[in-house]
Amino acid sequence: VDSLDKLFNTLKNNYLMKHENFKLSSLKYNPIKKEVKIRDAIFGPNEIQLIMGPCAIESREQLEETANEVKNAGIKIFRACAYKPRTHPYSFQGLEEEGINMLAEIGEKYNLITETEVTDPRQVKIVSEKIDILRIGARNMQNFELLKEVGKINNPVILKNGLSATLEEYLCAAEYILTNGNPNVILCERGVRGFEPLERFTYDALSIPILKTLTNLPIIADPSHPTGNKELILPLARTQIASGADGLIVEVHNNPSQALTDAKQQLDTKEIPNFITEIKKVAQAMNRKINLSKK
Ligand code: PEP
Ligand code: MN
Repeated sequence: VDSLDKLFNTLKNNYLMKHENFKLSSLKYNPIKKEVKIRDAIFGPNEIQLIMGPCAIESREQLEETANEVKNAGIKIFRACAYKPRTHPYSFQGLEEEGINMLAEIGEKYNLITETEVTDPRQVKIVSEKIDILRIGARNMQNFELLKEVGKINNPVILKNGLSATLEEYLCAAEYILTNGNPNVILCERGVRGFEPLERFTYDALSIPILKTLTNLPIIADPSHPTGNKELILPLARTQIASGADGLIVEVHNNPSQALTDAKQQLDTKEIPNFITEIKKVAQAMNRKINLSKK
């Protein structure tokens, strides 16, 4: 019995959150909620930020038309990927540097804050000079060399949770960015691998409420990738705002049926106004305001 007790205590200890592993973002060590500011958008406990744009940059026309509609809807932050981590090697892989240049130009032309994914440490410096916010995708949450590299810049970095990461592993990944000198980390919940075939990923509605008790970092949510189906984006987005998300990153496209990636889960840009109207109601119930540009 003694040895069983010992074993049980060791196991229990293994599963205790060790705040010293992520002390820079731990609420235990740093109890003030952090804000990450980029131009007129502040990620933090007050404003709710909406990031919208296509899954991938496909062409100048597609990117510009989508940017124009995103801007007209009052959205301030425009997402679009040039480097795409694709499951299938024969799928469209992205326009790479050419796409980054298009996004930078269109961001400037429409006065939008730009956001894109980096997938390799060698991309980080050049992308950080052209694009405002960099993102680490789910599949790279524990790409430690990439995390260290985005730790050396000052742009805000959105870090998505890995497909099977524990919350402690997630916070330790954020700590790699923080310890390398970049304080501007934003977490983004995007669901994990589940067993239900009707869901692309399983969105854990407890993640944000739990993370909010552990970390001072802002946390946004992705309602697009868990669903794999645009009809489900709004219902999921409502629950994400209701459970405390500080923002949403949503895939939208000017012509979704023709999209080269994630065609089924991109909202038509025409659907953005209704999406915003519906999300505003939940935000209001939560006593929070969505940061939109004034018309
Ligand atoms: C994305 O947001 O474009 C993306 C690829 O998402 P994730 O890394 O969450 O799969
Ligand atoms: Mn996508």
